[in-house]
Amino acid sequence: MPTKDVKKTIGTLAEGVTKNQLNYAIKAANKKLFGSGVLSLGELEEWAAIKSRIPQDNRTAFVLDKDIDHANAKFRFLVSSRQLLSLVGELRIIAADCTFKTTLEGFPLLVVCMVDEMRHAHPIAFGCLSNQSASDYEFAFNCIHETCAKIGIKLDALEFFISDGETALKSAAKKVFGGIKTINCYFHLKQNLKKYFQKFKIQADLQSSISDGIDKLQIAPTQKHYESAVQLFMTDYDSVPGFTDFFAKYVNNSNFAGWHEAFAPGVPSTNNAVEAINKSIKYNALHRQKQTLATFKTLLLRLVETYGDPARLVHRHRVFGIQEQREAWRFLNSGKTTRPVRCGIHVYMFIPGSEREEVSMNEIRRFMVPKYTSFEDYKVDLNTIYRVSMPDENYMQWNCTCRIFFKNNICSHIVIAAVKQGLYQLPPEADPTIIGRKKPTGRPKKMSKALVIE
Ligand SMILES: [Zn+2]
Repeated sequence: MPTKDVKKTIGTLAEGVTKNQLNYAIKAANKKLFGSGVLSLGELEEWAAIKSRIPQDNRTAFVLDKDIDHANAKFRFLVSSRQLLSLVGELRIIAADCTFKTTLEGFPLLVVCMVDEMRHAHPIAFGCLSNQSASDYEFAFNCIHETCAKIGIKLDALEFFISDGETALKSAAKKVFGGIKTINCYFHLKQNLKKYFQKFKIQADLQSSISDGIDKLQIAPTQKHYESAVQLFMTDYDSVPGFTDFFAKYVNNSNFAGWHEAFAPGVPSTNNAVEAINKSIKYNALHRQKQTLATFKTLLLRLVETYGDPARLVHRHRVFGIQEQREAWRFLNSGKTTRPVRCGIHVYMFIPGSEREEVSMNEIRRFMVPKYTSFEDYKVDLNTIYRVSMPDENYMQWNCTCRIFFKNNICSHIVIAAVKQGLYQLPPEADPTIIGRKKPTGRPKKMSKALVIE
């Protein structure tokens, strides 16, 4: 229970206890539970040295590396296990986030995760860095990079790095994992947008129209749609005080530009999965209580072992849910038509939006080379048709341009395309036909009359 809750409960239960008495009692109880909590750099050095041997066992936690600067009283270390690091070689998205209010000394917890094909995050290393500069993060990522090399894990699958707006994290990831593309968390962009509105005292109706426009840009079906629409959007609001200065960073600066879905199809555009892990660690492992560094470092080893449970479900491949299979069944039995198109080396399946019956060649041409004359024009065009990219027969890796796919990595359109291509068969449980009332049985009328006569 967090200290503030303890204080509140005792405050209401025991009358006459002074604030000082309460603070003293809590301090004494903490000391009894966690020891004096004081950890010297020497003790940290000793602990890290003992724990740095790479164990043979997959789940046992070890210190990947430590860097203790006695002259400037700074330190940094990272812990993981063979089991957790093995995911670095298998998944393509790495993400990191620092969470504060975890230690009494004020040092944050760094959590590095891999994100699986159904967008769930899995921690692969925990760190404690006394400072949070680009060189500290570089140290952390290097620990992962070098240990993987030592134990024979190849990092060839790594493609994307997701983080909040912090530039230090992004530049460190780019430096260590050469060629990695950085995604800038969309949730953090929206938070900064709110701050901008407050700072410039933007009127409420203008706020909602800008915010809605950015939401629509975020789900642009393809990079071409985004590029065509974003300039029109900027022009529409260029007279709003401070807006061009605020938003240009998210359009032109490569560290901040990767927040829209078309930038990386099939990759989350927020850091939410990692932040959910951090929240769960704070609640469940740290019991919503800041820990002394002495306890904290041991807790990190325990966390490595907990998350290293081989039974933990990791989606290395996407999976169709029953919902999208039922939607696909409905579509396939609705008489609506799809349209496969080959475009150079690319093969696509075009699927009409819910209001339409078919896709015309004109609509396909417009989709492939989108050109808008106004931002309004772009908004009206959204969701009219969807495009599934079919680069090979591995339909579980196909991407769609609809917002459901952007959110879940899977949608009914991919199921429809796979069925249409003859690669997938819907299971009987996908049949959404409502079971009607059974027709009453009984003898035919003629027969009963005959029987009555008899
Ligand atoms: Zn879709």
